[in-house]
Amino acid sequence: MTYVLLRNSNFVKEKINVPKIFCLGSNYLDHIKEMGAKTPEEPVIFMKPSTAIIYENQKIILPKISNDVHHEVEILFLIEKEGKNIKEEDTKSYINSIGIGLDITLRDLQNKAKINGKPWLVSKGFDTSAPVSEFINIHRIEDINNLSFSLYVNDELKQVGNSSNMIFKFDKIISYISSIFTLQRGDIIFTGTPKGVGKINSGDKIRAVLENLIELNVSVE
Ligand code: MG
Repeated sequence: MTYVLLRNSNFVKEKINVPKIFCLGSNYLDHIKEMGAKTPEEPVIFMKPSTAIIYENQKIILPKISNDVHHEVEILFLIEKEGKNIKEEDTKSYINSIGIGLDITLRDLQNKAKINGKPWLVSKGFDTSAPVSEFINIHRIEDINNLSFSLYVNDELKQVGNSSNMIFKFDKIISYISSIFTLQRGDIIFTGTPKGVGKINSGDKIRAVLENLIELNVSVE
């Protein structure tokens, strides 16, 4: 079973099993524009298998089937307890903790899939496509709807975002997903990427930062 680490204090870390991973697409206007996509009326969701997860200081393995692998930095949150049909006003107790991660995407395969009406699973769910940081307890955060985050490739700033710019916020995401799927403790939600996505290459060092709270460092093989 795949797990993530939840840091409850500087010394106590808890291992939490990850049953599933949901991801939001098209959740930041500036990214929708750079992709030439349409603003969605309902959240666009897809999944990654939990076997896609890698951790701090591990390597993204570029698959041979793609020539255009992109970084997408995203705020992550972890589901605290099982729930179904959760109302927006009741979502607070379902968010356990927050982290930063990368939705690594085979852009050439994804574009082909979009044109042909095929699923995104291969372009989004391949092994090592989900680098994740440790998670920290959400009680340490003043306002999850105003969190800035950024991504550096080889120390060069590539992406900057703030959760205040999410089209669908945490409450709506939980309510919407749970109207279709049973949420389970340990499910991870990727909340979408802002503009600035781009190609990663073998040897790159990638750093994702959430406020001054969490960092994630991975490299590309
Ligand atoms: Mg994404």
